[in-house]
Amino acid sequence: MNEKIEKVLANLEKNNMQGIYVDKISDVVPKIKELISPGETVAVGGSMSLIDSGVLDLLRNGDYNFLDRYAAGLSTEDIRNLFIKSFSADTYFLSANAITENGELYNVDGNSNRVAALVFGPKSVIVVAGINKIVKDVDAAITRVKTITAPKNSARLNCDTYCSKTGKCIAADKADFSGCPSGSRICCNYVVSSHQRIKNRIKVILVGEELGY
Ligand code: SF4
Repeated sequence: MNEKIEKVLANLEKNNMQGIYVDKISDVVPKIKELISPGETVAVGGSMSLIDSGVLDLLRNGDYNFLDRYAAGLSTEDIRNLFIKSFSADTYFLSANAITENGELYNVDGNSNRVAALVFGPKSVIVVAGINKIVKDVDAAITRVKTITAPKNSARLNCDTYCSKTGKCIAADKADFSGCPSGSRICCNYVVSSHQRIKNRIKVILVGEELGY
């Protein structure tokens, strides 16, 4: 573990979030099995990190009551109902768009079910993030989302946005949140999670490899 990772973990703890380090992506699922119990109601926010680390498969195939937003045949209304039910989940999973060296989580959302469940509702929240998500501070987090996260997610989700075509936000050079006026805009709510009232409600599994974007 290098100095920067140690600093992030220490500052997450200062912010009342439990920082957990694992060396490899393959260590994530075993760690999660230690943190949750069979029979729990679990839900996820949209995340390539959860897919690529095998967390989604674990929740689908394990002994959990998984509120699976990706299940076949769900209508728009069904998905909305699952998002509402997710607020009462025992454990909610997501990644972070960035984690600052000061131990803050930075997340940007379009539909915003993900950031809503992060900030309130589920008893426990588990964030799975690769070391590529670590940035110096909130300014660097904002830049990361404008130049990496949002363009990649926009392209992956076929959103008709400026960044999906050009690889960067229309407001990449501005220090504001003006962004694009697209109906598919994936940056609508910008959430910084700093010191938490409920100690260790948020747990951050920091992986010593690149994971997601
Ligand atoms: S505001 Fe629009 S252009 Fe900018 S990153 Fe978000 S979706 Fe892309």
